[in-house]
Amino acid sequence: MQFYPVFLDMARTRVVIGGGDEIALAKLRLLLKTDAKITLHAESFIPQIEALQPRVTLVPHALRDGDLQGARVVYAATGCDAEDARIARIGRDAGALVNVVDNLDASDFLTPAIVDRAPLVVAIGTEGAAPMLARKVKAHLEEVLPTSLGLLTQIAKRFRKLAEHLPQGARRRAFWSEYFDTSGPRALEQGGTAQVEQALDSLLNRHLAQAAPAGLVDFVSAGPGAADLLTLRARKLIDRADVVIHDRLVAPEILELARREAQVICVGKQGFGPSTPQAEIHRLMIEHAGQGAHVVRLKGGDASVFGRLEEETNALDAAGIDWQVVPGVTAASAAAASIGRSLTRRGRNQSLRLITAHDMQGYAEQDWRALAAPGAVTAIYMGKKAARFVQARLLMNDAAPDTPVTLVGNASRMDQRIETTTLAELPQRAGAFAGPTVILLGLAPTGAAQRLAPELQEHAV
Ligand code: SAH
Repeated sequence: MQFYPVFLDMARTRVVIGGGDEIALAKLRLLLKTDAKITLHAESFIPQIEALQPRVTLVPHALRDGDLQGARVVYAATGCDAEDARIARIGRDAGALVNVVDNLDASDFLTPAIVDRAPLVVAIGTEGAAPMLARKVKAHLEEVLPTSLGLLTQIAKRFRKLAEHLPQGARRRAFWSEYFDTSGPRALEQGGTAQVEQALDSLLNRHLAQAAPAGLVDFVSAGPGAADLLTLRARKLIDRADVVIHDRLVAPEILELARREAQVICVGKQGFGPSTPQAEIHRLMIEHAGQGAHVVRLKGGDASVFGRLEEETNALDAAGIDWQVVPGVTAASAAAASIGRSLTRRGRNQSLRLITAHDMQGYAEQDWRALAAPGAVTAIYMGKKAARFVQARLLMNDAAPDTPVTLVGNASRMDQRIETTTLAELPQRAGAFAGPTVILLGLAPTGAAQRLAPELQEHAV
């Protein structure tokens, strides 16, 4: 992010524009919606600008050193590169922020595209990369944000102090949601501003009279990484959470979906690396939910696959705290999708195993004979470090050394990596993978089937 968005209090801002024609007028349109003190400098002004006096002050000469006392924002809007550069220099020397119209490189700030439902204002910028995209986003937002939202927000602003009688967090949010979603728009339609104020008043009294809801924990599956692989339910719950307790595997773009006020706690857990003790995770969940918070326990992939889910639900049961589980996309599904393969297929594998190559005691024993059978398909989780052990066990149980194996690292993420090899090569290849990797034993990508040796094709299709 090169340009950092801020909202300036224009009532305290003096703006100076160098320029007096249509270019300057275009800048004025938005500025005139604010209370800024605006001065324009130019040899001459077009009539549309003249007509704006006395709201704007017109000085009939080009901007000079010493003209910028107290100005914080300067627009160079003459349309002449040399003159704009001169104005920009004077602006910077005076310590103001400078915008040179249509010249990103020479500007300290940009004016974003705006959806105006003041006091609700949405600013959209692309750092000059794609103005067309900004316009598209703006058009979309103009559609989804009703124009009445501005008025509802103005009225809400007057009630902010009163609403602070509701405790911060879920209860206050429930009150405001009901206002903006239903009771506010309905009252506005029925009887205008006065009716909205009345509705807000009785809504607040009703919420104040309600008992505090008990805290609870949602075990939410975050999926393999791509944010659009989250379920709608997961999105909704993350958006509501007061506290998010997440594993290291959860992708940053998913954590971004939490509200800014939400407390986001990382509880480690990375392969053989350092991790938060399980008892500490239980303690955190119980403590926050016990205080009435809506806790989202966010787990990578599907929460019920190698995620110690039942240890955590048991701890909550013992503490008398409510919980629910939201299912999601597990790494094996994402990996199979990435190579265009089905995890089961009639005539090849009627069953599918999800195994972990190690558990808390060390390498995990399995029904290796079944795994080694021709055509068997197994998704191996946490298998990178145990690849040699897995290979040895399978070969001891008569698996074909040329059994196809596909490694999928960072499935569904931007840095996804796919490599197809054979059981004989597995340990060497696995060593080269960074990040979470699932090993699909017995599967190769559709296209790769042709590139593999003929004897492998039988397994691979
Ligand atoms: N609950 C998770 C699994 C947790 S165990 C799930 O359902 O996917 C952690 C292991 O999951 C990692 O070692 C790796 O084998 C696998 N894994 C998780 N996310 C992955 C991803 N995006 N790509 C590949 N493997 C992943």
